[in-house]
Amino acid sequence: MPEKPVILMPEDIQRIMGKDAQRNNILAAKMVAEIVKTTLGPKGMDKMLVSPTNDIIVTNDGVTILNEMQIEHPAAKMMVEIAKTQEKEVGDGTTTAVMIAGKLLENAEKLLDKKIHPTVITKGYRLAAEKCQEILKEISLKITPENEDILKQIAMTAMTGKGAEGSKEKFAEIIVKAVKQIMDNGKIDLKDIQIEKIKGNATEDTELISGIVLDKEKVSADMPEIVENAKIALIDFPLELKSPEIDTKISISSPEQLQSFIDQEDKEIRKMIEKIKISGANVIFCQKGIDDFAQYLLSKERIYACRRVSNSDLKKISKATAGKIVSNLNELNSLELGHAQIVEEVKQGEEIFTYIKGCQNPKAITILIHGGTEHVIDETERALKDGLGDVASSLKTGLVVPGGGAIEIELARRLRHFGQSLSGREQLAVEEFACALEFIPITLAENAGIDPIDVLTELKSRHDAGEKYAGINLINNKIENTLEAKIIEPWKIKSQAISSSTEVAIMILRIDDVIASSGKSGGMTGMGGMPQGYGGLD
Ligand code: ADP
Ligand code: MG
Repeated sequence: MPEKPVILMPEDIQRIMGKDAQRNNILAAKMVAEIVKTTLGPKGMDKMLVSPTNDIIVTNDGVTILNEMQIEHPAAKMMVEIAKTQEKEVGDGTTTAVMIAGKLLENAEKLLDKKIHPTVITKGYRLAAEKCQEILKEISLKITPENEDILKQIAMTAMTGKGAEGSKEKFAEIIVKAVKQIMDNGKIDLKDIQIEKIKGNATEDTELISGIVLDKEKVSADMPEIVENAKIALIDFPLELKSPEIDTKISISSPEQLQSFIDQEDKEIRKMIEKIKISGANVIFCQKGIDDFAQYLLSKERIYACRRVSNSDLKKISKATAGKIVSNLNELNSLELGHAQIVEEVKQGEEIFTYIKGCQNPKAITILIHGGTEHVIDETERALKDGLGDVASSLKTGLVVPGGGAIEIELARRLRHFGQSLSGREQLAVEEFACALEFIPITLAENAGIDPIDVLTELKSRHDAGEKYAGINLINNKIENTLEAKIIEPWKIKSQAISSSTEVAIMILRIDDVIASSGKSGGMTGMGGMPQGYGGLD
């Protein structure tokens, strides 16, 4: 009797094994790094991304590019994840992180060609990464919130060569002021810095508002346009009578009865408004509705009111004005009110906003970005967020490092030294790890049209001679002490980039079998279907 074949998986499952799987994954990862490479550094170029609906994004931001590209290849997707993690953890350094991972894998391929086993490579990489973290801590410098100049330089380094370049000094000032303002006992939550965008005027008109800009108009045209010395009530209940939960029938047999019913309702509303008036409030932000009669009464009292303000906005206003969100009118009193110098309705182009500004010591504030076109505004916002992320990160950890490739060269130098203490094969992996780090200054130079070999040789010899902060300054194209040249970055950018790129490189190197369903048979459709994802790379 012939033996029956054993069938493990449906026929349309695609499987790539061994070397092929490894090479294919490495190729995909390299391609991802290659895509963002030209955007690195102050002289990096931008990319124009056009969506299926013809929306255009012009950007230099690694994570934005990769996010918009709808990458399908499973290993390439892992690379995109590095950028996302970097964005979440630091808010900057996404290109750097992806490039290091790409280079780690490219260099690993060289070792694979020399018949070095992936487990040896991954061990070497892991040892190198650990050592790197140790050295990084050693070389980094301490800062405190009082070092405002350094913080501004960090913000400026983040924005050099980006959308905000033209007014980076002003932006740096805004960023440092904003982050320090919302810092609460050493804690920083960037969500407390609201970013609003307004088309019109120029980028340099971007401003910091000590308060909140709400995209709401006042509920009635009869209310005042502007309230000075605002006393703000924040309420999360409606200023209208509750509609009964169950249908109720009211029998009315005479016009008088109807009138008295309506009068009764009006009386209730009047009572509510009276309580607000007694509290001393002249502005109300209400999370729910405000009925017509209440609006009329509020207008008569010259009280400014907005309705249906979202709970998150209400919380921000509360943080900015130090007012409490009140859930019961009986609790409303002058102590619960928030304060702002001015609450005002402002028309910007087509849109109407309520500005709450001049708050004293606000714990939530707004950066209002101006700009000529939407693309400019969006790219300015991305640059600004890089700056905010870097300043926040530097304040949180209190540690910074020299930029312009200085830190990478020093890490590489010390890693090689460390490598000498290891066995032959792992030493090779550590050497490749060091080379991957040098790829950052090489690319910075290349993108600026400077000979990368010259730069690398000079950097290496200067570091060997003990100049540990020597890097390439792309403002004057000189190799110099980048700390003195005020090119400074947060420690966390580098430490996060190294840890996530090593993790992903190791993960990809350990894969020697890729099993993917074609999508039709369901199952692993998340892998993007190997036929297109893989075929496209060959
Ligand atoms: P990422 O997405 O990795 O943050 P960027 O395009 O922002 O990429 O480039 C960051 C790199 O540019 C860092 O290595 C930083 O040190 C470097 N850099 C910033 N300003 C300068 C400068 N003036 N001269 C040289 N290098 C700079
Ligand atoms: Mg950056």
